[in-house]
Amino acid sequence: MESKSQSESLFENAMRQFDIAADKLKLDDNLRRILRRPKRQLIVSIPVRMDNGTYQVFEGYRVQHNLARGPAKGGIRYHPNLTLDKVKALAAWMTWKCAVVNIPYGGAKGGVVCDTKKMSLEELERLTRRYTTEISIILGPDRDIAAPDAYTNPQTMAWIMDTFSMHKGYSVPGVVTGKPLSIGGSKGRNEATGRGCMFTIREACKHLGIDPKQATAVVQGYGNVGSVVAQLLQTKLGFKVIAVGDIKGGIYSKNGLNTVAVLEHSRRTGSVVKFPGTEEISNKELLELECDVLVPAALENQITSSNAGNIKAKIIAEAANGPTTPDADIIIQKKGIFVIPDILANAGGVTVSYFEWVQDTQGFFWGEKEVNERLERIMTQSFTDVLNIYQKEKVDMRTAAYMLAVERVAEATRVRGIYP
Ligand code: NAD
Repeated sequence: MESKSQSESLFENAMRQFDIAADKLKLDDNLRRILRRPKRQLIVSIPVRMDNGTYQVFEGYRVQHNLARGPAKGGIRYHPNLTLDKVKALAAWMTWKCAVVNIPYGGAKGGVVCDTKKMSLEELERLTRRYTTEISIILGPDRDIAAPDAYTNPQTMAWIMDTFSMHKGYSVPGVVTGKPLSIGGSKGRNEATGRGCMFTIREACKHLGIDPKQATAVVQGYGNVGSVVAQLLQTKLGFKVIAVGDIKGGIYSKNGLNTVAVLEHSRRTGSVVKFPGTEEISNKELLELECDVLVPAALENQITSSNAGNIKAKIIAEAANGPTTPDADIIIQKKGIFVIPDILANAGGVTVSYFEWVQDTQGFFWGEKEVNERLERIMTQSFTDVLNIYQKEKVDMRTAAYMLAVERVAEATRVRGIYP
């Protein structure tokens, strides 16, 4: 069983991870007190006129965790189980993630408690525009830049950009990233998180002496991130992707799946399940399959102390945010599984978001090759930086990534000083 605090508070989990690194770094207590707290937490009520004429009031959040290294940056999530606690954790992870890949941003996160599957496109548009207006008091291209997360997409970002721009009276493309190309999006952004994750898996395989062409992978979650990781592992690195899953269940084929055809099937039917020629498996079975690389790419708290002992993968690449609880982490370390922690494995998304913001700010756009090459350089360098700490300090990969990140944020906070 997970301990009470763990299963109930994602933010506490995030702080436990931070504390381990802070202890290792012997971080000054004053700095520790500052870095543990989110800078701003905004809760808004969002009245929306529903298609049937009734009004519903949704709850929305925007949390800015730390702004020492630059403007706040982080995704917007629409989910029925979203809480302020989760948004706080996700915002803190954004702070560390931006610092791991050394891009000049602080961390933020936001979202609305809602079930997008039960809403029409028009309702979602009204919700998004009102939510944007409510949080616009802290949003802006130099203040806080939004992006997509689970159950939001480029269309959502376009509505946010348009709403913010309407209030200003001119177009402000830099207020969100992950926008459609036609309004200042970046080439390569849609695939960036999955592509970045693939680069870290490639580097981990090199480190562990695993030949990707002889290796198998399992991917949980077949959305924006999971479907791209699965396809790139198969098409670019030569992995055999033996199982993938989504909220409705998983599919398994010992000879490997055609990941592109699975995506087409999932787009057509709404799920990967029932893809021809595959065996149906549960999400539980999926996570516990024998494989070289396991990629959790769905949501948080998927690998817990109840299933960590059964995981057989050699590498866990955390494409999702917070898929492994701290108690599970201890078990996984004992088993000798090599973890590419979320703040490194999924940092490709925010990295290309940063490229998008730079392009918007300059009004000068890059080709896809340039975007992907720059992403590859940053992901490879960041992996090496974390691996060096892992080897030198003899800590696990998560602690190594946190040590790199916390040190950078602490230094920025220290040198800026405390106002007044
Ligand atoms: P998405 O909404 O596109 O896809 C989520 C996928 O997970 C879907 O296939 C869904 O069916 C599946 N899923 C949801 N709940 C599940 C459950 N309980 N069991 C199994 N599968 C489940 O979301 P996304 O953008 O791909 O994000 C996935 C994860 O990656 C999240 O943790 C998100 O925070 C993280 N992330 C996303 C980005 C990004 O650029 N989109 C960047 C960094 C991190």
